[in-house]
Amino acid sequence: MANHTSNEQGVTLPCAECKAGNRIPWDRLHQAPKCGRCKAFLPGIDRPVVLPDDATFAAATGTGSLPLVVDFWAEWCAPCRMLAPTLESLAEDLEGAVVFAKLDTEAVPGPGRSLGLRSIPTLALYRRGELLGQQAGAHPAQTIRQWLRAAGGLDG
Ligand SMILES: [Zn+2]
Repeated sequence: MANHTSNEQGVTLPCAECKAGNRIPWDRLHQAPKCGRCKAFLPGIDRPVVLPDDATFAAATGTGSLPLVVDFWAEWCAPCRMLAPTLESLAEDLEGAVVFAKLDTEAVPGPGRSLGLRSIPTLALYRRGELLGQQAGAHPAQTIRQWLRAAGGLDG
């Protein structure tokens, strides 16, 4: 399956019915968007979306009522690579409830610097333009869910 591509305008979701790529703005991801061509409901975001630059990071974290978890990571970081499959399975389990995104701190160092990150991996939770919490370290899925719930990013 292809990765969802993202930029400051939004995320491209492929339609399961007609295969058309649909560009969904960041602030509309929570509205169960439909395909522009065949009107089928689009699948949600079931894997981490790559944030390729500062503008996309700003757009992704600046709007939207769907909680967004940004994974600050780097290729050289072994714990980051350990965490990656956990986040992939969480993105699948929490499709439609939480969006997971990845930010490579080597390629896009600005946002991590503004947050004052001391270590990676660090997860940061955003909702409606607000930073709700941060968690450093490669934790198991259950711990990440508990953190999300406590920080206000997961209902129920
Ligand atoms: Zn379609």
